[in-house]
Amino acid sequence: MTVEIGKFIWDITYACPLRCVHCYTESGRRPARTLDRDAAMRVIDVILAAQPEKVSISGGEPLSVRWAVEAMKRLHDAGVAVTVFTSGWSMPEKTATALADAVSSVAVSIDGANAAIHDAIRARAGAFERGMKALDVLHRVKDERRAAGQNCFTLGIDYTLTRSGAKEADLERFVEATIKRFPRLDFIRFGAVIPSGLAAEPEFEASELLSIQELIDLIDVGRRLAGREGNALNISVTDVRYFLPQPGVSAADLDILHIEPDGALRAFPIYEAKVGNVLHEPLDVLWPRVRAWRSDPFVAKQMETVQTMADWASTARTLDRRYGSHDDQERIARRGLPVPA
Ligand code: SF4
Repeated sequence: MTVEIGKFIWDITYACPLRCVHCYTESGRRPARTLDRDAAMRVIDVILAAQPEKVSISGGEPLSVRWAVEAMKRLHDAGVAVTVFTSGWSMPEKTATALADAVSSVAVSIDGANAAIHDAIRARAGAFERGMKALDVLHRVKDERRAAGQNCFTLGIDYTLTRSGAKEADLERFVEATIKRFPRLDFIRFGAVIPSGLAAEPEFEASELLSIQELIDLIDVGRRLAGREGNALNISVTDVRYFLPQPGVSAADLDILHIEPDGALRAFPIYEAKVGNVLHEPLDVLWPRVRAWRSDPFVAKQMETVQTMADWASTARTLDRRYGSHDDQERIARRGLPVPA
């Protein structure tokens, strides 16, 4: 038997030039754990054997990894829809051009409507400007490919909604400016910040985590922006209720798997629990462990308590502290302390 999985998320590195306040993976503040090329290709073999429809490549900053484009191209050439998520900190023309033959979609993460908001969330001056310049390069490559009759990725912005970045007037200005600067951009996806990693911590919850009702209200804002006359851009706001644990619905069979940079396999995306490593054991062995963890009475009880975003953050903290590895638990205990230079 070979288990089939619909979607993989692979964070290929924890290296990152940014230090976002909501980072799910604490990238840039921990060892990168990036695999060498040969081991990475073995992970690709594992993913391909599971015949997924989609793979999301993220990090850390995935485009900082030397073999990233080669790995994505292997998946793409095998017919898998590959999306790469990048901060756009660095986007040489050569990389943008190579992506055109390696992925189905490029999502540049912009989390604030202007440099002041975005750079504060990303904790690095210049992040907004560099993200916009990356979009310039990718947009130009897309135009050139289109003019030459060649296929290219869909291109858009993945905008994580925090309290600082979600004011309606700011979003309106941002959408207008984006349409003007990138007339052939395909999408802007506004997504709720999920309480995971640093975004599950009490300090973040108190200052930046939006409530479910605030997020539902933002769906209407998104509809209004999308419905403006002459707007061809696909604008969506994720309905966070879809991601909340649903009473009576088991997550055990949800066919999404999340791989960490070194091949460790999470029992469930966003939580630190690991069930093994795809480089050391076959998915046929790991998948039943994934299902067993998801069905564990303690885990199921934690999930059932979630009614609000604050509940969800609390559940994430509980699960991470109980099931994280020794390294995870040490890292979690250091949160909030100064990061060594
Ligand atoms: S760019 Fe992404 S990976 Fe890097 S610190 Fe920010 S959220 Fe984390």
